[in-house]
Amino acid sequence: MKEEKQILEEYYESMGISKPVFRFCSKIEEGLKERFARIDEVAECNQMKVLKAMRDNRLSEACFAPTTGYGYNDIGRETLEKIYADVFGTENALVRPQITCGTHALALALMSQLRPGDELLSPVGKPYDTLEEVIGIRPSNGSLAEYGITYRQVDLLPDGSFDWDGIAEALNEKTKLVTIQRSKGYASRPTLSVKRIGELIAFIKERKPDVLCMVDNCYGEFVELTEPSEVGADLVVGSLIKNPGGGLAPIGGYLCGTKECIERAAYRLTSPGLGKEVGATLGVTSTLTQGLFLAPTVVKGALKGAIFAANIYGALGYTVIPDGKESRHDIIQEVEFHDPELMTAFCEGIQAAAPVDSFVRPEPWDMPGYDAQVIMAAGAFVSGSSIELSADGPMKEPYAVYFQGGLTWEHAKYGIMTSLQKIYETGKIQLEEQKA
Ligand SMILES: *Cc1c(COP(=O)(O)O)cnc(C)c1O
Repeated sequence: MKEEKQILEEYYESMGISKPVFRFCSKIEEGLKERFARIDEVAECNQMKVLKAMRDNRLSEACFAPTTGYGYNDIGRETLEKIYADVFGTENALVRPQITCGTHALALALMSQLRPGDELLSPVGKPYDTLEEVIGIRPSNGSLAEYGITYRQVDLLPDGSFDWDGIAEALNEKTKLVTIQRSKGYASRPTLSVKRIGELIAFIKERKPDVLCMVDNCYGEFVELTEPSEVGADLVVGSLIKNPGGGLAPIGGYLCGTKECIERAAYRLTSPGLGKEVGATLGVTSTLTQGLFLAPTVVKGALKGAIFAANIYGALGYTVIPDGKESRHDIIQEVEFHDPELMTAFCEGIQAAAPVDSFVRPEPWDMPGYDAQVIMAAGAFVSGSSIELSADGPMKEPYAVYFQGGLTWEHAKYGIMTSLQKIYETGKIQLEEQKA
């Protein structure tokens, strides 16, 4: 053990990590053993769940053959969708490379279930940025608002709890679908546990049994033992270049839900009358399937990375959301620096640690749709993949970075250590070991 530690320290040193940073981080890691052991157990359960679904559905080599053209009778596509349905505990699933991203999957879910005159309700506050244009909160070409679908929102209370009275009041005869975002995304509210989502759904269904409950499951898959579809959600939706793609999926989105919900979604994705029957997979089925197989392990690594970072930056006195001890329901970590230089240094570290584009220096830029400059760090095998180690944030108070991912715990760890190294090099922080 001693020898490994010594070699590791030398290795890290040759990779730019100074002794004070290495020792500071090692000490933090030492204190996380029990926590990590529990994460290993959750991952083991989820691995079994995924493996069982693959065996039960007789996944075979023939499933990986590419289809072209219409893609009729694509056995790999059909098998993968059955596997997803089993993993998420739903009647049916739509898992397609033709779903271009998470926003597309969510827009598809909303646009397929809602009809003119219906109302959409978000009982958990403002949805993810990109959905504002889908819904029409920010006017956009083709939004739900243009089709006469109205929107209502009930914010969480200041302490992060549900506004039960407000929700009961907002439900009305027009309410057709309730959208619940599991992850806090780029907001400072708490992420919702599957248990809390279950309580919210039960409350809503008690008052309006025919309302559809949809969960934006982005970044939440495999973090817990169960998924929101196992506590009453009619539809769960997510992106394959986040958790369930396991870092291998090059594109895609998924919807898992009731037979009726998935049928409506399939008729919207392709065409009325065609539904799930068409959609060639062009050879991606094997990576989508293998990615799902790896996903519980990949999510485990990302989760450990998030907790490691929370404990490091928490110990240094920064506000970290969630904090180092809180239970986790997604893989996102927020660190507030209140200092543009430190925020930039953090992102430089994440970038420098990447397997791809490690030589690039991230710089803040004017990104469309944002009111402040945004800095981003990512060096990914799959472009834009945020299950791979990545960080970003708007350059304004509180100068917070949101960071997530890491295909392996070892890489997430090195990335976070490199971020601390860059911050250490600014001379603005002290590490206790420095004096030794
Ligand atoms: C990432 C994300 C989305 C949108 O997914 P894209 O693939 O970026 O379009 C929606 N909701 C949440 C909570 C997300 O994290």
